[in-house]
Amino acid sequence: MSKSQQWIERNDQVITATYGRYPLVPVRGAGCRLWDADGKEYLDLLAGVAVNNLGHCPPKVVTAIQEQAATLLHCSNFYNIPQQIRLAELLCDNSFAQRVFFCNSGAEANEAAIKLARKYSGEKFGPNRSEVLTALASFHGRTYCGISATGQEKVKEGFAPLLPGFKHLPFGDIEALRSAVSDQTCAIMLEPIQGEGGVNLPPVDYFKQVRHLCDEQDLLLILDEVQTGCGRTGTLFAYEQEDVTPDIMTLAKGLGSGVSIGAMLAGNELATHLGPGTHGSTFGGNPLATAAGVATLEVLLNDGVLDNCRKMGAYFCAELNKLQQKYNFITNVRGRGLMIGLEMNIEGGEMVKTAMARGLLINCTVGKVLRFVPPLIITRKEIDQAIDLLDGIFSEVA
Ligand SMILES: *Cc1c(COP(=O)(O)O)cnc(C)c1O
Repeated sequence: MSKSQQWIERNDQVITATYGRYPLVPVRGAGCRLWDADGKEYLDLLAGVAVNNLGHCPPKVVTAIQEQAATLLHCSNFYNIPQQIRLAELLCDNSFAQRVFFCNSGAEANEAAIKLARKYSGEKFGPNRSEVLTALASFHGRTYCGISATGQEKVKEGFAPLLPGFKHLPFGDIEALRSAVSDQTCAIMLEPIQGEGGVNLPPVDYFKQVRHLCDEQDLLLILDEVQTGCGRTGTLFAYEQEDVTPDIMTLAKGLGSGVSIGAMLAGNELATHLGPGTHGSTFGGNPLATAAGVATLEVLLNDGVLDNCRKMGAYFCAELNKLQQKYNFITNVRGRGLMIGLEMNIEGGEMVKTAMARGLLINCTVGKVLRFVPPLIITRKEIDQAIDLLDGIFSEVA
């Protein structure tokens, strides 16, 4: 029995079956490559689901983590934490925000955002103004707040009662949002581009109209940039390309290059509504995670990563468009930066397995959309290799 097979058998004895895992046991990574327990190499276009934006084990982040681990791993949020302060400064200097709350995941960042929105609304407008509008096909995490906010039935089944006060409207439909706003609405929460929902791009000017609606009705605009943030779409944050400013933004996935971290960002005045004792997290913003965050942001901002993301994103899309010309089961190629979806009129699950067997890691969402979220440092040569493998797989289906 192979080493991988042995690990898989042990996995199946002790790990909850929540993930429906592929038979893959990664043990080492570098850049866009992963190796499994038997030494087989993979080209990774999933990047830990848009987490490893700088590739696996980016040297500057690894060094920062090693040094921090040997200096101070954890203290408490009762105290001031220099790495946390530096990361907050970097985030604020490079976004609309003036205040940051740190936590450990995307779902937790969204929890903080919803708590802030409701607290602010209650203090400013009185009780019963707590409803949050979100989008159908959205994804906001797996906590109770996260699944309540998420506009997909499959994450909620069996878990009732959920958190009240959420309504889901079609993504990209400004009139649907407008007619759903009532005197109980306090916020609109959206992903700039829906990730888990199938790489769904907003219509032109949609976010400007949403911003306008929020201003008109005194609503907060919360952007869930857990997946789109940290350079994924070619700018540090996706909202920059929509020419709107949110009131609250949440981050997680790419922020720590693989170390658990989440963040909720807001303006000064709004953030005052989360005063001492109102919210907290034991591990949130700990020295190790925030040291990883500082190193990650410095590389993102100073080492040409965003530029590479835009160029390679355009190249990858162009190459996928050529495949679309060739295979008529491909119905659409879309994306921004290196968040790319290839939609088909057939199921993609088997293709993911075939790709894996040939050393290519990809993902399929909502059944028929292949999602590509590779490291932002990917090269033309690596994209060419991926395209060759995909061409081979598609040719066998056609
Ligand atoms: C992944 C994701 C989350 C959940 O993040 P976790 O770290 O798994 O809690 C929330 N929102 C969006 C848009 C995501 O892509």
